[in-house]
This record gives sequence, C-alpha cells and structure tokens, in this order.
Amino acid sequence: TTALSINNLRKVYDNGFEALKGISLQVEEGDFFALLGPNGAGKSTTLGIVSSLVNKTEGSVSVFGHDMERELSKAKKCLGVVPQEFNFNMFEKVIDIIVTQAGYYGIPLNEARERAEFYLRKLGLWEKRNERARMLSGGMKRRLMIARALIHNPRLLILDEPTAGVDIELRRSMWEFLQEINAAGTTIILTTHYLEEAESLCRNIAIIDHGTIVQDTSMRELLLQL
Ligand code: ADP
Ligand code: ADP
Repeated sequence: TTALSINNLRKVYDNGFEALKGISLQVEEGDFFALLGPNGAGKSTTLGIVSSLVNKTEGSVSVFGHDMERELSKAKKCLGVVPQEFNFNMFEKVIDIIVTQAGYYGIPLNEARERAEFYLRKLGLWEKRNERARMLSGGMKRRLMIARALIHNPRLLILDEPTAGVDIELRRSMWEFLQEINAAGTTIILTTHYLEEAESLCRNIAIIDHGTIVQDTSMRELLLQL
C-alpha cells in the first residue's frame, strides 16, 4: 500500500516565486521517510500542501489512495500533521487542546480522555495536563503538537522539522518515541535539515533543492555514496 503519493506537484506563490517545480514522491506504508534539504528548498511548502494549509498550483496528492481533492475528508482521517509553528490556543489547558481535537474526529469523550492520557503520559506531559499551553517550554509545546496529531490514530504522521530548536537530550527521546510508534505501524514522514536526524531514524529519503527532488533513495544507499 502507498501511504503518500505526490505527482508532478507544482507551487507558484502569489508573488510569482516557483517553490515546487513539479515534484513526484511515493512513500510506502510502514516507512520512516525523510524529506531532507537546505532552508528554502521547498520542504514546508510540500508538507503544507499535503496538510491542506497551502494551495497547490498543479499536480495531485493522495493519502492511502484518497485523492486530496476528491476525497479530502477520507484523506484527512488517515493523516496527522505536526506543523512547524505552534498553532494551538495558548490560553487553553493542555488536556482540553487534545480532547477538543478528538471532538473534530467524532471520537467519543471517554475514549478521547483515555487516548489523551495515553499520549500525554508517553510524551511526558501528563503532569502538565491542567496547565495553560502558554506555560509550557518550547520542547513541551512541540510534544503537545505531536500528541494532538496522534489523537485520531492516523496511519500517516507528518512532521515538519519536529526537533528544530530542541536540545539534544530531548531530541533523542523524541526520536525514540517516533521509532516506537513507527514500529507499532504508523508511517512517518518528517522534514529535516539535519542529516544526522535522517540518518538515525529513516529508512528512505528524498533530497529536495530549489523545488526539485535531486535524490530519492534508501538511507543505506545514500550513506554508501558519501
Ligand atoms: P498562498 O499562495 O498559499 O495563498 P501567499 O502567497 O498568500 O500564499 O502567502 C502566505 C503567507 O506567507 C503570507 O502571510 C506571506 O506574508 C507569507 N510569505 C510571503 N513570502 C514569504 C517567504 N518568502 N517565505 C515565507 N513566508 C512568506
Ligand atoms: P523549506 O521548508 O525547505 O525551508 P519552504 O517550503 O518554506 O522551504 O520555502 C521554499 C521557498 O518558497 C523559499 O524560497 C521561500 O522563501 C519561498 N516561500 C515560502 N512561502 C512563501 C510565500 N508565502 N510566498 C512567497 N514565497 C514563499
């Protein structure tokens, strides 16, 4: 099964800048996949389109066979997204942010509470459940974003620079967590500009530069070339 299929995706921003020049990518179910590239390469634009935060200019995207144009709600059910910017309400309590999100997916309240407890414990946020989000450190806010993205048990989790600005110790514990949920069956795609991060975590990798895919290979083969 193909978890994510991107075909000839092109993005021209309103100012005329062509951020994606017709890229194609396939990510298979179960993979741990990295989209690697320097700043400005087009990584966030790609993930922005997949998570319907950015409008595409041309091309198509499907998630587990559901085209994002024709079957958006089915595609969204399969998809959890952790964008780079914190986009929760800073004045809401941690637990409420998670439970509210579960409501959007029609998850019954008692089930939502159980899942919220599970992920908040896993991510070391359970003690903070009654704090307002703005009281959390940057690393905790990042983990809150991850917990929220997982609440509907998506088959595909996409993270944009999940460990940017996170210290090395916390970065390692986030890596372990991501490996654990990948081992349990969740397909993971992340963007990063740290080769080290891609190297420790990912089986397959695509390298993007100036809006074009310049490499699409397994991590092993890439390392053999270096
Ligand atoms: P879209 O084509 O998806 O509607 P827009 O071109 O309207 O996107 O821009 C969306 C937002 O991104 C705007 O708020 C804009 O200020 C911001 N933006 C503009 N240029 C850049 C840039 N070079 N890098 C990052 N963000 C930018
Ligand atoms: P990355 O995530 O790899 O750093 P982005 O996808 O954020 O790259 O940006 C790709 C290119 O598109 C960059 O040159 C950036 O300045 C430009 N860009 C991003 N958002 C906008 C926008 N809203 N309007 C115009 N240009 C943008």
